[in-house]
Amino acid sequence: MKSTMKKSQKMKNRNNVPAWDLSDLYTGMDDPQIEKDLQKYKKQNETLAKKYKGTFASISPSEFLKAIRMVEENSILGSKLGVFAYLNMVTRMKDTKAVSFYQSIDERMTDYAKASIFFTLEINQLSESKFNELTKDKQVSYYKPFLERVRRFKAHELSEPVEKIFLEKSVTSGGAWRRLYDEHSAALEYIIDGKKYNDAEISKLLLDKDSETRAKAGREMNRVCKENSKLFTFIYNMIVKDKAISDDNRGYKSPVAARNLDNQVDDKALNALTSSVRAQYANLAHRFYKLKSKWLGVKKIQYWDRNAPLPFSADRQYSWEESVKIVLDAYEKFSPKLKKLAEPFFDKDKSWIDVPPRDGKRSGAFAMPLPEKFHPYLMLNFVGKQNDVLTLAHELGHGCHMRLSIKQGELNDDTPLTLAEMASVFGEMITFQSLLSTLDDDKEKLCLIASKVNDMINTAVRQIAFHFFETRVHEERKKGELSAERLDEIWLEEMRASLGPSVIVDNDSKSIWPIVSHFFHSPFYVYAYSFADCLVNSLYQVYREGKIKNFADKYLDMLSQTGVKRYDVLLKPFGLNAKSPEFWNKGLNLISSYIDELERLDKKVKF
Ligand SMILES: [Zn+2]
Repeated sequence: MKSTMKKSQKMKNRNNVPAWDLSDLYTGMDDPQIEKDLQKYKKQNETLAKKYKGTFASISPSEFLKAIRMVEENSILGSKLGVFAYLNMVTRMKDTKAVSFYQSIDERMTDYAKASIFFTLEINQLSESKFNELTKDKQVSYYKPFLERVRRFKAHELSEPVEKIFLEKSVTSGGAWRRLYDEHSAALEYIIDGKKYNDAEISKLLLDKDSETRAKAGREMNRVCKENSKLFTFIYNMIVKDKAISDDNRGYKSPVAARNLDNQVDDKALNALTSSVRAQYANLAHRFYKLKSKWLGVKKIQYWDRNAPLPFSADRQYSWEESVKIVLDAYEKFSPKLKKLAEPFFDKDKSWIDVPPRDGKRSGAFAMPLPEKFHPYLMLNFVGKQNDVLTLAHELGHGCHMRLSIKQGELNDDTPLTLAEMASVFGEMITFQSLLSTLDDDKEKLCLIASKVNDMINTAVRQIAFHFFETRVHEERKKGELSAERLDEIWLEEMRASLGPSVIVDNDSKSIWPIVSHFFHSPFYVYAYSFADCLVNSLYQVYREGKIKNFADKYLDMLSQTGVKRYDVLLKPFGLNAKSPEFWNKGLNLISSYIDELERLDKKVKF
């Protein structure tokens, strides 16, 4: 009753568009429970260390179980504290109290958690026979997915003193270069017609309807990158070399190997993906950009026009209620069980979603997982555009997925990036199809499909072009430092190959590779976006073919196990094998079929 009253008050304040209610976690920054929980978190970490540090080599299964359960309990408490502080901040980034509250919680928890670092180290030091003895215990074996994940990197671990030096030196080696990259990038200034812009503002200009504005923004971004290329080149060379030193010592066979191990992706599947995408550059990207050039009224588009809006798009508006209905109907059509999982997010008494944009709120959208006794939260910046409906479908997919997979347990559930986008992309896809089926106007259909294909190419194709770029850089770095000119050249070649003859990539866009922050922060991270997207597209194709019995149930079952099983095992019930190029082509053919449809509509529509 109390929460309902509070809620209705809030609803009125926000024009009937819901904001989230974090009181399931804490009532506010001044909730006395926060300090109590922090003290408990500290104490539990200390107790764990006091009782168990140095004991694992000869520990009994029952004592080991107690230690794991303490870690589990602490992990739940840590999530509750950390997520509350974070969510409390993201809707009011200008509120210095909320920002410093988050920082202080984060720092205190990092400090308290230091006591329990021994826990994973000692699990890694267990001999094979001791590990088997412990996991033979029925209750301990419940935690096997977690324990095996901890031990995955065992073969590449170095002796304790060496690990210690690596860790200590990371602050002044790789970590320092990344920090310099961040600080330098954040301070960059872009100037157009005498007006200053920051990084986020200038990126927005690339989506302007006016081609002159886009051109000015595109050229300026490249100019600023070029002006700073000496420093960016130096930083990048250092980061790549730093990684190579660590890889060599740890016995990784190739620059991508450590990332593959982390993603649980084998080299063969990755090669099948990258070569399939490359082989389809012309059929997908080149064909699409040719159409796009025509729609923008030019023979060739500029590099920065790839995501330009179509001049004849209608910009239809959707209300919040209408959007919720579209998404829930689409989910229900696929599976009533999926709709049931989604419904509580919109329950008037629950408030699990923060919907409207407001001053000081972070941009973009995300879903935040929490331990099972709580629930996920979704953050949106909904303004009623077609894309906002699809974003809702996307984040809601994450939310439903999180509700299913957390049932594996707090420690066990750890969905890798390659699988984390499964339910979101799938949810977006079924909603896209249902939106499409409501349109009769060919021009509107064309705009909707074109914007979908635009996104699909950015994810499935462009990220692989990025992957080829970084693969070449890491290989060439083995022979010595790369010059700025050489980096520009590799970038130019990979962009030209992927974008094709209808996109101009020249001196005005060849130096902008430093804006891809993943190259600096997380080498070989980018391919996972394409991997995830193509994987879901293939799965969606299987659904469309209708040959798998009880597809929806099998799909939901798969979502509940993404944190504990490998993707190849998960895909088996659908007759899919990711090591074969056919698998990837199945997903890529979905994009190709949409481009066929665009070509067909293009001939029909009078512009
Ligand atoms: Zn997502």
